[in-house]
Amino acid sequence: MLVTNIQRFCMHDGPGVRTTIFLQGCPLHCLWCHNPETQSLHPALLFSREHCISCGGCAAVCPTKSQIIRPERRWNRGTCTDCGACAAVCPTKALRLSAKEMTPQEIVAEAEKDRAFYGRRGGITLSGGEPLLHGEQALELLREAKRSGLHTAVETCGVFDGSLLPELCRYVDLFLWDIKDTDSNRLYRYTGACQERILNNLEAAGRNGATVRLRCLLVSGINTEEAHIAGIADLYNRFSFISGVDFLPCHLMAEAKYREVGSVYEIPPTAATSPQTVQWARELFDRLKTRPEAS
Ligand code: SF4
Ligand code: SF4
Repeated sequence: MLVTNIQRFCMHDGPGVRTTIFLQGCPLHCLWCHNPETQSLHPALLFSREHCISCGGCAAVCPTKSQIIRPERRWNRGTCTDCGACAAVCPTKALRLSAKEMTPQEIVAEAEKDRAFYGRRGGITLSGGEPLLHGEQALELLREAKRSGLHTAVETCGVFDGSLLPELCRYVDLFLWDIKDTDSNRLYRYTGACQERILNNLEAAGRNGATVRLRCLLVSGINTEEAHIAGIADLYNRFSFISGVDFLPCHLMAEAKYREVGSVYEIPPTAATSPQTVQWARELFDRLKTRPEAS
């Protein structure tokens, strides 16, 4: 499976200390996405101009002549096929592919190196992209992790093949379920997601015995309104398998990544979320919830 990054010692991707495995590919295109390199289904070529020393190695091997050194350093995205030949020879890693192929066994072996730090609560978290796009391979990775006695969490946007759920729920200790918006029109407009599919999968996860924690990104001027927080509280109050809710601020720190991918960071600066807004959402939710959350 295609792994974009393995991040160690993560403290916010589930309980305890986690090793988070980021997988390539996502069915959505959220305006605020902070991992644009994970969106395409195939590894994408990334270019960091600051690291380029204009040695010409890439231009010499490019079969489509998409790397141009003179008269000015350019990467012609339009003719590039993301074949990766240039990345393989670039001495400074100014050019690199966004993901590399790893087997579930290799990924778990990487996570095993951190076992001493997990304690009673930590473990691995699959993220992305949308990790459940990887279907059977994601399942095999989770099975392998459970065979090794690791706690497993999956961060999902909820858009995936729901027929996986009965089997999936046997190997996932905790789902971190993104609720990007409870307004269906806005959700579609800013992410391309279908609300019905997400909620059908959420309910099916509950029927199959899942434990779910909702992750709610607050994007100022888009979903920071009372009706959305009330919608989250309604989900929480209706489904006892939801153990708690986290409200997260939107940070606008992904511009360099968009440049590397060769696309434009279109989110307006006003979308950044202040700590006061997160506190407002938390307090409103606390007033609306009808049962205590698990820690
Ligand atoms: S091989 Fe790397 S360092 Fe050399 S010109 Fe190409 S991008 Fe720049
Ligand atoms: S990924 Fe392949 S086609 Fe694209 S610039 Fe590099 S060598 Fe050329």
